[in-house]
Amino acid sequence: MISVAVNGYGTIGKRVADAILKQPDMRLVGVAKTSPNYEAFIAHRKGIKIYVPQQSIKKFEESGIPVAGTIEDLVKASDIVVDTTPNGVGAQYKPIYQQFQRNAIFQGGEKAEVADISFSALCNYDEALGKKYIRVVSCNTTALLRTICTINKVTKVEKVRATIVRRAADQKEVKKGPINSLVPDPATVPSHHAKDVNSVIKNLDIVTMAVIAPTTLMHMHFINITLKDKVEKKDVLSVLENTPRIVLISSKYDAEATAELVEVARDLKRERNDIPEVMVFDDSVYVKDNEVMLMYAVHQESIVVPENVDAIRASTRLMSAEDSIRITNESLGILK
Ligand code: NAD
Repeated sequence: MISVAVNGYGTIGKRVADAILKQPDMRLVGVAKTSPNYEAFIAHRKGIKIYVPQQSIKKFEESGIPVAGTIEDLVKASDIVVDTTPNGVGAQYKPIYQQFQRNAIFQGGEKAEVADISFSALCNYDEALGKKYIRVVSCNTTALLRTICTINKVTKVEKVRATIVRRAADQKEVKKGPINSLVPDPATVPSHHAKDVNSVIKNLDIVTMAVIAPTTLMHMHFINITLKDKVEKKDVLSVLENTPRIVLISSKYDAEATAELVEVARDLKRERNDIPEVMVFDDSVYVKDNEVMLMYAVHQESIVVPENVDAIRASTRLMSAEDSIRITNESLGILK
């Protein structure tokens, strides 16, 4: 049984904490919070132990939220920390993880240099085995890598060009925008996503462009992949169909908009309407000789959650990629 701490209990942290509670081989020691807000209150109601910075103990106690100890206490009590603090804050915590010689999983908002390896379960689980510091790449990069490594099983991927339509904010983020504009992110090429893909697949020829759209639900990607050899459309569809964490959505069900996909998640009674799978529109898959084009939607708040669970198993050498992906998927109710 691996003892896991979650430092930073926000959009990603609360989902990772709930995922840890469902793993047969993991125990959630507790979570770290800095302010006694509604998320801290609900964690307490769920019976999750809350650890806080020394200077925040009084503030939490005054709010009626009991404190189990400091963040240092949480790190000491765990075998591994999943750091889900805001962009760049994880790097500030690394000296504490090093001081207590604890393994740590960082998120895509950190620079790649924070960790020994950047991680995508379908691409490089084996390379991450035993690594003390692993960085789970961002939501967009996770989707790109899942797709590229899957198509690479048909025949070698030589070149990727992708356009990313990014959601402007997560649903709880009331101060972010835009609310009435499309904003290039940035208005130069390439966007940072290409470099992030290269943190996992080093020599891939990839160029990405991105635009922020006024929506909170999901991202959407438009991807053009050039392969070494000619391929058949049926082989591309078959590999997508048979790869975990990728779902082909049939056009016959009329679910082509992100709002409709989230409605499906609601109808399925998915926790928090989460969709950790890459949702590929099957009719968008277009093959011409050695070129493959496709469109898919990405649920930014949940796609990295199974990756974090697998990264814990890779870091602690618990089991093979295949076994970890299977156990994570079964425990989280991922479609396949
Ligand atoms: P968030 O703001 O929702 O959550 C961060 C949490 O950390 C908050 O609860 C905040 O109170 C807490 N926090 C702030 N400072 C802290 C500190 N010093 N010590 C401990 N806790 C602290 O952020 P998020 O969206 O969950 O993002 C976390 C990481 O995950 C970032 O690296 C981000 O880039 C990455 N990520 C986010 C998304 C997404 O769509 N939200 C997707 C993939 C990856």
